Amino acid sequence: MSPVYLDNNATTATDAEVIAAMLPWFTERYGNPSSSHAFGATAAEGVRLARRQVQSLLGAAHDHEVVFTSGGTESNNTAILSALDSQPGRTEIVTTAVEHPAVLALAAHLEKTRGVTVHTVGVDGEGRLDLDDFERALGPRTALVSIMWANNETGTLFPVAALARQAHAAGALFHTDAVQAVGRVPMRLRDTEIDMLSLSGHKLHGPKGIGALYVRKGVPFRPLMRGGRQERGRRGGTENVPGIVGLGAAADLAARYLETERGWIEDLRDRLEQGVLSRIGHCHVLGDLDHRLANTACIAFDYVDADALLLMLDRAGIAASSGSACASGTMEPSHVLRAMRVPVGAIRGAIRFSLSRDTGGADIDRVLDVLPDIVGRLRTQSPLWRDRVPTFA
Ligand SMILES: *Cc1c(COP(=O)(O)O)cnc(C)c1O
Repeated sequence: MSPVYLDNNATTATDAEVIAAMLPWFTERYGNPSSSHAFGATAAEGVRLARRQVQSLLGAAHDHEVVFTSGGTESNNTAILSALDSQPGRTEIVTTAVEHPAVLALAAHLEKTRGVTVHTVGVDGEGRLDLDDFERALGPRTALVSIMWANNETGTLFPVAALARQAHAAGALFHTDAVQAVGRVPMRLRDTEIDMLSLSGHKLHGPKGIGALYVRKGVPFRPLMRGGRQERGRRGGTENVPGIVGLGAAADLAARYLETERGWIEDLRDRLEQGVLSRIGHCHVLGDLDHRLANTACIAFDYVDADALLLMLDRAGIAASSGSACASGTMEPSHVLRAMRVPVGAIRGAIRFSLSRDTGGADIDRVLDVLPDIVGRLRTQSPLWRDRVPTFA
């Protein structure tokens, strides 16, 4: 039986069309886009087309608002540091308790080493942003508001367009980590006040090690990577031409299929959740059920240890994850679920299934076939099951 991959928020399979689009750029089209001869011109043309493809997926007004980077982490680091460096009078940033480590680790570092004040806005039990807390955090010294578009663990969507307007009213710039949203949520950045947006190739069926930062025309910018004049001086270093072409092809595919995919991926996800809830007692779907990604199901199984559950699923050929793949294996309970004040008993057994256009009904059936038995077996081995103290009191 072929394995079932339900960990698409950690990474996605590279689409065969993307690979086909990339291949010539490893072989005959190996030029450096900065070179003035024909080899260079060909490479520059490949990069130019990819920039247009990403622009189109984002609904951006200008293709030069797209700056290619090495991925989501670099884009987030660039946006935050750029906002601080370009506005010396402003030394505060506003972010949330549920961001990816690519934002939170840098914020903690800047707080420690640069005297930056970081306001971390909390969320409620369903992962929704505390809007009063957000308003209070904004002030005349806010350089940047950085809030993710979609959470990687629960799929919860934040109202980034409205938050960007509020940030601007306080004179601050607005950045969003949209790594989980790009290619999954329709967007038209030209109709918003979002100043900067991060995306990553490997989360939308493109290659790893390539991403982009959208920087709205006119927004002050300081490069993170200083070097050559590539990317209009905004990111030094010879362009990763095969990666950029792959990201462009992935963006093109996403733009073509986003609307049709979303519906059936959501149907499969709902079938998974309903199936789990009807077959297995004492479990809870976490997150903002009315505002979330179509592909993500975060389910807490009471009286079960998530790591044991994932191991048993893995043995049955099913790949899922507990929270952020970056944090799993550390034995640290998910910072996202903790910020939501999910009871520790429920966090202990919380796992994430994340679907993609590669997911089929047979994959969901396999999970529903094996999961009740696995959860049942783990529960009978657990002293928690004997006592059965309710997690959500
Ligand atoms: C995966 C992810 C990142 C990191 O992107 P990389 O390209 O792997 O560096 C950042 N933010 C979110 C929300 C992610 O899911």
